Amino acid sequence: MTTPVTIIGAGLGGLVLARVLHLHGIPVAVYEAEPSPMARTQGGLLDIHHHNGQPALQAAGLTDEFRSIILEGHQAMRILHRDGTVLLDQADDGTGGRPEVQRGELRQLLLDSLPAGTVRWGHKADGVRALGGGRHEVTFAGGRTTVTRLLVGADGAWSRVRPLLSDAAPEYSGRSFVETYLFDADTRHPASAQAVGGGSLGTFEPGGNEKWIGAHRESGGTLHAYVTLLKPQEWFAAIDFTDAAAATARIAREFDGWAPELTALITDSDTTPVVRPHYALPVEHRWDRVPGVTLVGDAAHLSVPNGEGANLAMQDGAELGQALAAHPDDVEAALAAYEQTMFPRSAEAAAEGLRHYELLFDGTTPQGLLDLFSAAEQPQ
Ligand SMILES: Cc1cc2nc3c(=O)[nH]c(=O)nc-3n(C[C@H](O)[C@H](O)[C@H](O)COP(=O)(O)OP(=O)(O)OC[C@H]3O[C@@H](n4cnc5c(N)ncnc54)[C@H](O)[C@@H]3O)c2cc1C
Repeated sequence: MTTPVTIIGAGLGGLVLARVLHLHGIPVAVYEAEPSPMARTQGGLLDIHHHNGQPALQAAGLTDEFRSIILEGHQAMRILHRDGTVLLDQADDGTGGRPEVQRGELRQLLLDSLPAGTVRWGHKADGVRALGGGRHEVTFAGGRTTVTRLLVGADGAWSRVRPLLSDAAPEYSGRSFVETYLFDADTRHPASAQAVGGGSLGTFEPGGNEKWIGAHRESGGTLHAYVTLLKPQEWFAAIDFTDAAAATARIAREFDGWAPELTALITDSDTTPVVRPHYALPVEHRWDRVPGVTLVGDAAHLSVPNGEGANLAMQDGAELGQALAAHPDDVEAALAAYEQTMFPRSAEAAAEGLRHYELLFDGTTPQGLLDLFSAAEQPQ
């Protein structure tokens, strides 16, 4: 008999898994901490890769829906010197394999593909305990519980399910993003809009390894900036981020001498800046098989930001769903097959991602990154 699946977390990994299970007629419930789909803005652009994110959406039967939300032209890329000089300006000619979508629209598309009631909102898992024989009891905030024979932790960086499998905990990489948004930028912030161009921007201090400003052009002329600083978390904690003007002025001081259209990405923010520390699990994170439970996405292999995390989470979800469908009478065989493929794949992606991340900060900046882009341009 098919074992019903309990998923903790309705992020991209958990939702792709739920959708693939639904397509295969396997009963599934997703328990999500947030009270509703609209509880938090799901801001940010995601580039969905042809080798992992796109096949995952295909397995979910959602390729046409995905294509309908692609932001045409947003694969363009610019790299600027801190003085505003353009070092690389790549147009989006429609041939790239990494179309950009709004994360919120992608999540909504997945939610709409599930039967009503599949996602149980307002269920924050507080604790999980093994009952023996592969059964687990999940306790939610407020005291409600559920017992399951097949538990999947899709609950992100600070997974409550992970401790059943591993003692590993995410560690701070030493860097954090400060995120800002500039709305209606072509009209209200034209110099910054021009600097960002039609897609993504990266700006560097040549030879520097401490700071970086990245930005995306989102839909509706919104600029979304990721200002990266090498600082201990106490440094950020000493800034009062509830005072947006003072906080952006403090962050912008770190970029004295940079072109004004670049520092305006900080000082002209239309939103209160938000700090996002970069945490990562060990690159080779894995665990021994524990009956009745596994992890997908960031819960399994949180990395420093490298443009792969959401794609890998969806790939995990799709492959775990397919493995469970292929072994309807043997959950353990399905989980073992999924983990055997997922462990080396995510270790390789984390190592590769770390190399790319370090290219942003390795003291040869931005040459390493320019070389990477120019290699990608060469015919294979
Ligand atoms: C600023 C930033 C930019 C990024 N840009 C990119 C990018 O361009 N491309 C890319 O591929 N990746 C990117 N990533 C990484 C990507 O966002 C993650 O790797 C991806 O979201 C992981 O998906 P997930 O489903 O595993 O976890 P999540 O997206 O974190 O989803 C986990 C879900 O579980 C819920 N949850 C958490 N705890 C509990 C609990 N105790 N009980 C119940 N529910 C719970 C959460 O509310 C959430 O809905 C970026 C990350 C950041 C921070």
